[in-house]
Amino acid sequence: MEIIVPSCVAINAPVSSKEAAIRMAGELLVQAGYIAAPYVDSFLKREAVSNTFLGNGVAIPHGMIEDRHHVLSTGIAVVQVPAGVRWKDDNSARLIVAIAAQSDEHIAILRRLTRLMQKEGAIEALASTDEPGRIIAALTDTPFVPAAKTTPWPADAKLELTLDYPNGLHARPATQWVETAKRHACEIRVLRDEESADAKTLTGLLGLGISSGSQIVIAARGAGAELAVKDLAETVTRLSAEEHADAERARAAAAQARANAPTWKPVGASRQQQGVAASPGLAVGKLVRHEAHALEVEDKSQGAIAEGEALEAALSKVSSELSALEAETRERLGAGEAAIFAAQRELLADPGLMRSAIADIMRGHGAAWAWKKVLSARVDQQRQLPDALLAARALDLQDAGERVLASLLGIERRAIVLREPSILIAEDLTPSDTLQLDMRYVVGLAISSGGPTSHTAILARTLGLPALVAAGPSLLALSAGQEAVIDGTAGCLYLKCSPADLESARLAVRAYVARREAMRANRDQPAMTPDGHRVGVFANVANAKQAADAVEAGAEGVGLMRTEFLFLERDSAPSEDEQYTVYRDTIAALAGRPLIIRTLDIGGDKQVSYLDLPKEENPFLGVRGARLLLARPELLHTQLRALYRAAAHGPLQIMFPMITDLAEVETLRAECELIRKQLGAPVVPLGIMVEVPAVAVIADRFAKLVDFFSIGTNDLTQYVLAMDRQHPQLAAQADPLHPSVLALIGMTARAANAAGIHVGVCGGLAGDPLGARILAGLGVHELSMSAQDIAAVKTVIRAEPLSAMQVLAERALAASSASEVRAL
Ligand code: PEP
Ligand code: MG
Repeated sequence: MEIIVPSCVAINAPVSSKEAAIRMAGELLVQAGYIAAPYVDSFLKREAVSNTFLGNGVAIPHGMIEDRHHVLSTGIAVVQVPAGVRWKDDNSARLIVAIAAQSDEHIAILRRLTRLMQKEGAIEALASTDEPGRIIAALTDTPFVPAAKTTPWPADAKLELTLDYPNGLHARPATQWVETAKRHACEIRVLRDEESADAKTLTGLLGLGISSGSQIVIAARGAGAELAVKDLAETVTRLSAEEHADAERARAAAAQARANAPTWKPVGASRQQQGVAASPGLAVGKLVRHEAHALEVEDKSQGAIAEGEALEAALSKVSSELSALEAETRERLGAGEAAIFAAQRELLADPGLMRSAIADIMRGHGAAWAWKKVLSARVDQQRQLPDALLAARALDLQDAGERVLASLLGIERRAIVLREPSILIAEDLTPSDTLQLDMRYVVGLAISSGGPTSHTAILARTLGLPALVAAGPSLLALSAGQEAVIDGTAGCLYLKCSPADLESARLAVRAYVARREAMRANRDQPAMTPDGHRVGVFANVANAKQAADAVEAGAEGVGLMRTEFLFLERDSAPSEDEQYTVYRDTIAALAGRPLIIRTLDIGGDKQVSYLDLPKEENPFLGVRGARLLLARPELLHTQLRALYRAAAHGPLQIMFPMITDLAEVETLRAECELIRKQLGAPVVPLGIMVEVPAVAVIADRFAKLVDFFSIGTNDLTQYVLAMDRQHPQLAAQADPLHPSVLALIGMTARAANAAGIHVGVCGGLAGDPLGARILAGLGVHELSMSAQDIAAVKTVIRAEPLSAMQVLAERALAASSASEVRAL
């Protein structure tokens, strides 16, 4: 017989006295057949002669030796009383572990209990869990497998979905789920495999461990349940496109960084410390140990009210600090990286944390002590999640929580002071540690724990800092001050290199930096081939700030301003004035450089709840882009009015996405002309995206109707190859260098050149150095790309005469597969 069974665990037991708790535990043991009824009295007899309070909220009632014959089989019962019952003296017991032992088996249980008591937060977790399995696992030293809940949550509305985020549900999208859920007063839960979590708490959602491909149910109860479910489901699907795009961008950026990183290997003997590659690059520096400062906490209380207030003040201070850090990081690195801090803020906002800490404060503990206790318990819990990606996020919670602790203790968290090129070695670095590094001197990061998907690894990649992770504890034993070479591409740290090897590594780094510098230094020079052919190099942007950054990165203008971002993540469509302001500011940021603004391209992967779009079975083949604008004239007219008003401030061109038919172009041109006349606005060039194969095939006829073409290779590829652009399994195959995609691009360019109109490419292929050369060879005039690709693309265009690129393009058209093209 098992020593403990689920029926012997009473969660949140309705008992208010020690005797009632003991009787309940005894009763459970009787029911389960562990003891005969008289043994219950034996428990009470024991209490009269000794104190069974063990400490830390745990009591262990057990019977008298002389009554052992009433024990039928050794067993334990646990009565959990989260609010506690008064035991002896002023002690309050929250976990009552009644032990009925035939011989000395109880010793093993006692040992486990005392071990748990020494582990910060472990008892607290058991005293507040609502899962009997967790208590059983802890007492029997077995892994906890969450039990399937048998009673379904009674929902008023629910909806089933499959989560397709490539990285599963991590903090960034989960933060937005929480934001959406909080807009509704009713209860909302997310259910997965019978487990469920409150959709308004981030830790709850993350605790579900929802990986890519999981089936989930969104359920709500109370007034407005239908609407809440619909709203949250929309947030979930809306974020899917971003998650895929992020993953795609990260993959592409990582591949490019790996391809560009310098290669080096020592010739002489050296010692190697191998880890996992986390951020590519090569660097030479002295090892410096980055110590995490364990914050010492004394349990001192100035009274429950003062401590409660101190905790609240610290939480609110850290929350504003995180907001500031978020804004600063957005400026410096981008929205994706900044979202880490929004997620941290949300983690701290979890009412469960505050509740547990306050409970301890009420019991007479200091705020810092109470906060540290609940924080460690939560961090441990998160670390144990089976999904490694989600478990790695424990560090984010720890980082945010320790900020609160430092604030409570009045300690400044300061960055270490460095004076020479340094490779930091650390057990782990938190996102805020990483951002505080002195980038003048830090040349690499070597981390003993962690994984390549941790936020620290992501930040290292964004900062362009070579990094390796998971190098093991021996890394921390390395003596500081010695010179080493870090190769983040190979995930290796080279120690004890010969002076000649150190020198050759330095040379490799210098040559790489010089190459990059040369590219950057020439970023403002035109992309002119040696035989005098100029290719326009433009940027894709979403707002005025990005346009200004693009100019700084060498862009000659904007080849695609996506306006859908103006419409996403809000409750109503932006007004004409709002749109006008954004367009006008973008024109100003470009100071006379060309700007192509694309009208709303919504539908497909990008959804907006307030537009009430009908559900599409195949969104990419449905009412999206120009099709939507033609069906919804109010959207079209507002946007066109805003665009024509902005046109008074500088050069602007209007472009329509997802065009399929000539008639669509005729109608849209007529609408433009009508509005232009109403406003007395200047004439502006009107163009279309070529992204539906139907347009490319008869591009000659479209060329007569428009002033320019811009080829969207992202969509063109998906429609030509019949491969969803977001499909995780088809990502590698959906290559725009497929000869059939190139053939259609060639046809479009020929038609444009014959008609004397401009043709550009604004899909991802334009920013790929090989793609850019082939496109120029096919007769494309302009390439529009992410700002970060500009310097490299300009460099390759300048390196070769147009005739060579034309030959390359011919060979690409004649190839039989995308991989053959890539091999050219
Ligand atoms: C494209 O389809 O290539 C394009 C540039 O547009 P988007 O990626 O916004 O669909
Ligand atoms: Mg497109």
